Amino acid sequence: MVERLKKALEEYWGYTEFRPLQKEAMECLCQSRDVVVVLPTGGGKSLCFQAPAVTKSGLAVVVSPLISLMKDQVDALTEWGVPAARIDSSLSLEERDDALDRVRQRQLKLLYISPERLVSEGFSRFLQTLDLSFLAIDEAHCISMWGHDFRPEYRQLGTLRQLFPNLPIGAYTATATEQVRRDIAEQLHLKDPAMLVGSFDRPNLIYKVRPRSKIVKQVCEVLDRYQGESGIIYCIRRKDVEQMAETLAAKGYRVAPYHAGMTDEARKKSQDAFVNEDVDTIIATVAFGMGIDKSNVRYVIHTGMPKSLEHYQQESGRAGRDGLEAECCLFYSGGDFGIWKSILTDSRGNGALRVAGVPPALQEQDALAAEGPGHNGAAGSPGATEIALAKLARMYNYCTDAICRRKAILEYFGQPYSQANCGTCDICLGDVDLVSDALVTAQKILSCILRLGQRFGGGYTALVLTGSREQRILDNHHDALSTYGLLKDYDKRIVHDWIDQLAGQGFIDKTGEYNVLSVTPAGWRVIREEVTPRLLQPAEKKPQHKAKVAAASWEGVDKGLFEALRRLRSSLASERHVPAYIVFGDAALRDMARHRPSTLPHFLGVRGVGQTKAEQYGRIMIEKIRAYCIDHALEMDL
Ligand code: ADP
Ligand code: ZN
Repeated sequence: MVERLKKALEEYWGYTEFRPLQKEAMECLCQSRDVVVVLPTGGGKSLCFQAPAVTKSGLAVVVSPLISLMKDQVDALTEWGVPAARIDSSLSLEERDDALDRVRQRQLKLLYISPERLVSEGFSRFLQTLDLSFLAIDEAHCISMWGHDFRPEYRQLGTLRQLFPNLPIGAYTATATEQVRRDIAEQLHLKDPAMLVGSFDRPNLIYKVRPRSKIVKQVCEVLDRYQGESGIIYCIRRKDVEQMAETLAAKGYRVAPYHAGMTDEARKKSQDAFVNEDVDTIIATVAFGMGIDKSNVRYVIHTGMPKSLEHYQQESGRAGRDGLEAECCLFYSGGDFGIWKSILTDSRGNGALRVAGVPPALQEQDALAAEGPGHNGAAGSPGATEIALAKLARMYNYCTDAICRRKAILEYFGQPYSQANCGTCDICLGDVDLVSDALVTAQKILSCILRLGQRFGGGYTALVLTGSREQRILDNHHDALSTYGLLKDYDKRIVHDWIDQLAGQGFIDKTGEYNVLSVTPAGWRVIREEVTPRLLQPAEKKPQHKAKVAAASWEGVDKGLFEALRRLRSSLASERHVPAYIVFGDAALRDMARHRPSTLPHFLGVRGVGQTKAEQYGRIMIEKIRAYCIDHALEMDL
């Protein structure tokens, strides 16, 4: 059985090895055992059911929550040479009849449908007459109220077990929590399912966190390092999206905006432009993301802090699905904490929770007003606000702590990380330094807050500490305070950031409309020297450590050839009306630019090239490679 799976993997997909847990996940379906598979984004969940669908007799039925996801997967399978189809409401009558004919004639290995269609009386009866291999439930967390994307239509899948008592069911998700996992198995009435939970580490992602200062400049610095490559910029509010899009477009960057306030048409236009690589960067609220399987997203930038690490993990996780290095940059400010806090505690938000009939993704915090306490489906339940605030505090700690980012994320999700230095986050790369006399610095800040009568905000307090001569400070006679100018050797922005860091660690409270600072009981413990806070500052001189993943995945790759092949891929993709990453992934292109095959058999040796792709594109790719290599006197068939 494993041999057959391996052969299929090689023949159709051009992959020679299983990713972690793929083999185990595939074996379950082959042995007709129910299975729940939890793998991070990019972990290769689809193959866990696609490969068994190819090797088993009969038709596999796949449930997916969004038409765009189904279309993407069916397009990709067709390109790999696997007979697959989808039936959804976007098809014309002819297209649907055509798909049904192919089902009846047993020509298909996979059929993608929506949950409501699968359990509908007519359709399930039709399916019962067929030879089915198994049922696969993609994005299975949508069935759980505890997940981040509950969909009522997924609840109906609870009847599947009754409708198809003898078929194995596989459920697939990237959502990590134990509660959601258990809920999936229960709701689907799985029989003694294998629970396969992978590591949530994404070794190819580089994590960086910075206080936000001049955000446009900060964003451009990232964009400039990834010229011509795809990326996502997340903003908290619609108006931030629009402003950022305008500013970057005026600077000549190829960008498109995306948020729930745009018309369906305009949103679709932006999304298509991004997927088809007519623009490099999409600037979006979190309304953007679900249903986008674009595998070669090289950077995800957050211009504001998300409200939980769950959200951050999900959004940043859209980078680097192809396993190649990608960068996740988060720019935060203490103000973000305040914004979220007031939203999460504002009872007026309550009435504006999810509206039936509107896709939940579009209702996400996109419109800030629509966000209320008890998000995540637990609306109104006691303690929901407290839970949300606790998650917010953890998120803020993540930003301000001086702990390896990878370790912090993994441990948040209950997976220990033992490596001392991950080599791929700002902390481990030495981009930031710990303040050596953090205790004394914090005490100076806290006593200044006390001297100011706990009546001023962070900006003002920073000015007093740095000895500013601003008129309002002189008018208030605060230049006469004993704490005036105590931190005059530092820039006021750094001091303001330290204040935010202390707030994030619970030593300072911010209250009211003006975020007035006060010292918390924990803060008093700092004053009494019972605890030492951690404070970060930008590293003295910028060490140019290259993250190690980046170096490895480019090893031996001729970048000029890679660019040439990428352009060729674009034109092939637009001819065929499919996204570029469906023709070839970036990993396959790099492998071509590394080994530079001059014949079909060599071309088949490229990672990510199966039989069908070799037949389809082999000749034209080889032609390009040969021409380039001759032009540049490069060796071939390495
Ligand atoms: P997920 O659904 O878990 O986010 P996908 O199924 O979309 O992940 O897979 C992510 C990428 O990894 C895809 O480009 C896929 O072709 C590739 N991939 C999957 N399995 C393997 C494998 N065994 N070897 C190499 N690449 C793989
Ligand atoms: Zn690290």
